[in-house]
Amino acid sequence: MTKIKKVLIANRGEIALRVIRSCKDLKIPTVAVFSTADKNSPHVAFSNEAICIGPPASKSSYLKIPSIITAAEISGANAIHPGYGFLAENAEFAKICEESNIIFIGPSSSIIGLMGNKSEARKTMTRAGVPVVPGSKGNIDSFEDLKKIVKKIRYPIIIKASSGGGGKGMRIVRNDAELKNNFEMAKSESQNAFNDASVYVEKYIEKPHHIEVQLLGDNYGNIVHIGERDCSMQRRHQKIVEESPSPILDDEKRKAILEMAVKGAREVKYNSAGTMEFIVDKDLNFYFMEMNTRIQVEHTVSEMRSEMDLIAKQIRIANGEKLKMKQKDINLRGHAIEVRINAENPSQGFMPSPGKIKKLNLPGGFGIRIDTFVHAGYEIPPHYDSMIAKLIVYGETRYLAINRLNRALDEFYIDGINTNISFLKELINTPAFLQGNYNTHFVEDFLSGKN
Ligand code: ADP
Ligand code: ADP
Ligand code: MG
Repeated sequence: MTKIKKVLIANRGEIALRVIRSCKDLKIPTVAVFSTADKNSPHVAFSNEAICIGPPASKSSYLKIPSIITAAEISGANAIHPGYGFLAENAEFAKICEESNIIFIGPSSSIIGLMGNKSEARKTMTRAGVPVVPGSKGNIDSFEDLKKIVKKIRYPIIIKASSGGGGKGMRIVRNDAELKNNFEMAKSESQNAFNDASVYVEKYIEKPHHIEVQLLGDNYGNIVHIGERDCSMQRRHQKIVEESPSPILDDEKRKAILEMAVKGAREVKYNSAGTMEFIVDKDLNFYFMEMNTRIQVEHTVSEMRSEMDLIAKQIRIANGEKLKMKQKDINLRGHAIEVRINAENPSQGFMPSPGKIKKLNLPGGFGIRIDTFVHAGYEIPPHYDSMIAKLIVYGETRYLAINRLNRALDEFYIDGINTNISFLKELINTPAFLQGNYNTHFVEDFLSGKN
């Protein structure tokens, strides 16, 4: 590496370990940061150096910008990888890095400002000629404004946090009687969860598909896509199964979505790994929903199909290297599926289930990849996200990938905490999933016995 000498990873869990692994492959030394709750976490053990940055609460550690910048300065790390969640889409953090001569491994802070804020992004994409879900132009400032928009787009609508993420901060409203209350609740929830009360509104699309496009751009205007992922299998608006290619798209629609995503990324001169998320209605009309200006949880699915290390690409781009490949050089093969293994209780509304893992058996064999940070004896702290592992399978065809997923889920054994493993196994063996014909309401319908 010519510029990047040492990378600080401003994150925890599987993604911290994932980034450390790419750094090791590239022979770049790493600095882990951790809260006191994570002192026994593998990301601390496997990093070249590690610095404690505070107590368990995220706002006092993983979200505390001064502590992270200080840790970089003390350790001599001249680059920071933010992972996903925490500070990954915080434009101010990226700007502070830029001003402190620390390379932020992600897009420029101005791009995060434009696209990381969801209502701002809608404006930018409209300008670029990318179709967006009908709704407000920007943030909604008053209840009067909200009423005007609702009159135009009609119920049902969805009120969303402009700084939202992880499926949080969304409220579906179906009639006037529910509007005022939900508007107030959405604002206060957004303030609490994201420290930003601003919200916007969209038409609520019934039973849609969530399809997103993986993008890579460099500092020289080169942009390619690495295909799409179908993330329609969700619980509480958060993905639990992701696959590529999408089983509902024909070649023509696929091409149209992929080209639209590249067009959107070009508009903002996107210069890192990123994802354009689209909502697709039952007639396969598609609308831009948001852009995640960071690496996503499910990037692994695209890695399996492209045989590319996307985090290594992200680091090389931040190092100032040119993307050498052209679109025609990217060959996507076979079928890949990821499932998110969460420490949670599906029969109790997916309530988190932290605690000590007593026994653990991880699946293996041909076509299986596991990205995790837990091991037998590990105590899952209650302070953070419930995702503890990602299981990714590859097959030449979707049928073979599903067979492998079944085999791997059978081998996956965790004792001591509740997980969603058997729930996932049920989901992937429903006729709808096997036929590749499911939408974002699938899990809810499944739980209420409708499929
Ligand atoms: P992805 O978008 O990568 O598919 P998620 O939406 O589940 O995955 O987000 C991944 C993680 O990042 C989750 O822990 C989620 O809570 C967190 N996250 C995502 N966006 C934000 C945000 N804007 N603010 C805080 N946390 C976020
Ligand atoms: P986040 O930032 O939390 O990832 P998104 O805007 O990407 O939020 O939406 C997350 C999920 O919520 C979508 O995948 C979809 O299932 C649902 N959703 C969001 N907007 C709409 C909409 N306008 N109509 C229907 N469902 C929606
Ligand atoms: Mg999203």
